[in-house]
Amino acid sequence: MNRADVVIVGAGHGGAQCAIALRQSGFPGTIMVIGREPDYPYERPPLSKEYFAREKSFDRLYIRPPGFWAEKTIDFRLATEVIEVDPDAKQLTLSDGATFGYGKLVWATGGDPRRLSCAGADLTGVHGVRTRADCDALMAQIDAGARRIAVIGGGFIGLEAAAVLSKMGLNVTLLEALPRVLARVAGEELSAFYQQEHRDHGVDVRLGVAVELLQGEEGRVTGVRLTDGELIPADAVIVGIGIVPAVGPLIRAGARGGNGVDVDANCRTSLPDIHAIGDCAAFACDHAGGAVMRVESVQNANDMATCVAKAICGDENPYNAFPWFWSNQYDLKLQTAGINSGFDRTILRGNPADRTFSILYFRQEQLIAIDCVNMVKDYVQGRKLIESGAIIDFDRASDPGAALKDAISDPIAA
Ligand code: FAD
Repeated sequence: MNRADVVIVGAGHGGAQCAIALRQSGFPGTIMVIGREPDYPYERPPLSKEYFAREKSFDRLYIRPPGFWAEKTIDFRLATEVIEVDPDAKQLTLSDGATFGYGKLVWATGGDPRRLSCAGADLTGVHGVRTRADCDALMAQIDAGARRIAVIGGGFIGLEAAAVLSKMGLNVTLLEALPRVLARVAGEELSAFYQQEHRDHGVDVRLGVAVELLQGEEGRVTGVRLTDGELIPADAVIVGIGIVPAVGPLIRAGARGGNGVDVDANCRTSLPDIHAIGDCAAFACDHAGGAVMRVESVQNANDMATCVAKAICGDENPYNAFPWFWSNQYDLKLQTAGINSGFDRTILRGNPADRTFSILYFRQEQLIAIDCVNMVKDYVQGRKLIESGAIIDFDRASDPGAALKDAISDPIAA
């Protein structure tokens, strides 16, 4: 086969869900999924959680058992990268030199870990955490005796990795350039809480520090030199400083983009018959006041995928799924709902010292997002309040003894 009715590029969360949703919607045509990694689609979040902690083996990460795909007549070309897109000929060029034609193309390529630009970034022992291979390489180094681990970047992936490593009894230093961890995604209360948690678990959390270079011997990393001259000795370095969307071939083909590839309300790129979904797709997000953004979450990849699959089957609806996310660190389950960008007020419910609390985010009096730590009830109720657009009574919402659902100031309006 050298052509399929729908070709999906990227065998990750979005790609897998798009193929599944096409068949669920009754799509009768041929489907080909082309993926750069050698594995059938697997869940990425456990790579910094249960898989990394060796609580789950890889075969429990599959999004569907490998046999499922043949049953649904969904074809795969794995360990193969799409390197060129010709939108006029509706043809792809693959890394093995072959060409492949498409009727509709769904670009679901996620992104690659952003690399450090300083000297030493290429040394052996410097790891991103995006793929099974990344994670296996890091685990192999730990098995071989690495004990001092420097984690660069205090975002979710860096923090989750630090939590697993410190639980293993390793010597972990977390280096964050900004004055607090999670600065791009959370309010100060949540940052302060996680900083303290990690310190309490023995992680050396350094804030507001800049990396000058990575030091090495015989090609292998030995430490991280900070701009103030301090050397943090390290047998292994994890770089968790975000991703670069994998959109090169699409942009070279003329698709509009900058931070990823731009898509319209129906996840269509500016090129004919080419959709884009998941981490690589920038869209005007209704839940962030229409701001154009990429959302890096399983929810977003899955829901965009379903939206596109339905559209291909003739049921076109604008994408506006409600955003949610989770992160597991130690015995803490963080659940977030909504997007807090542009918030101008927060309310803290409960006491972080009890390790059970929520933070409500408001923009112009409107509840726009909630972060819940070990507070499932607040998460469920808060999510409903955000979706309903209810106006919240601040005093009632601040009282952790009262149910969050009762914090509506005008229950009739809700
Ligand atoms: P991906 O799942 O990354 O899939 C893209 C695939 O496309 C990859 O396999 C890639 O190799 C392939 N590809 C790229 N370029 C090409 C090409 N040119 N040709 C062929 N194939 C290509 N989200 C949450 O909601 N909760 C979490 O707790 C959470 N934890 C995470 C932990 C880790 C360690 C990581 C890495 C991510 C985590 N995420 C989490 C984010 C979530 O995994 C992503 O948002 C999601 O995987 C995005 O799906 P996607 O399909 O856009 O991209």
